[in-house]
Amino acid sequence: MHEMSLVEGVRQLIDDAAGREGFSRVRSVRVEIGQLAGVEREAFEFCFELAMKGGIADGARLDIVATPGRGRCLACGDEGALAAVFDACASCGGYPVEVTGGTAMRVIDLEVE
Ligand SMILES: [Zn+2]
Repeated sequence: MHEMSLVEGVRQLIDDAAGREGFSRVRSVRVEIGQLAGVEREAFEFCFELAMKGGIADGARLDIVATPGRGRCLACGDEGALAAVFDACASCGGYPVEVTGGTAMRVIDLEVE
């Protein structure tokens, strides 16, 4: 499950930030997950809890900000919401729709003490 490697990346980022900024406890972690990032929210939450155990973010609250998918139709040029990577264009029903947003997975910020 690739959520685990994503979460390990988050833990690495937290550890690095703690080393740099000198905090010892993380109260909450805000993460952006795009609708088209291919990340399962439940799996991510589950892995987060596991991966943070014993670290400075053990028990930290996880806030997931889901950003909607966006795409631009190569047939008609319209850009709009895209629910899934292989969906047709909402305006003309055409293909392909180039994904232009909602694929990111990143840490937005940390609440620390
Ligand atoms: Zn179109």
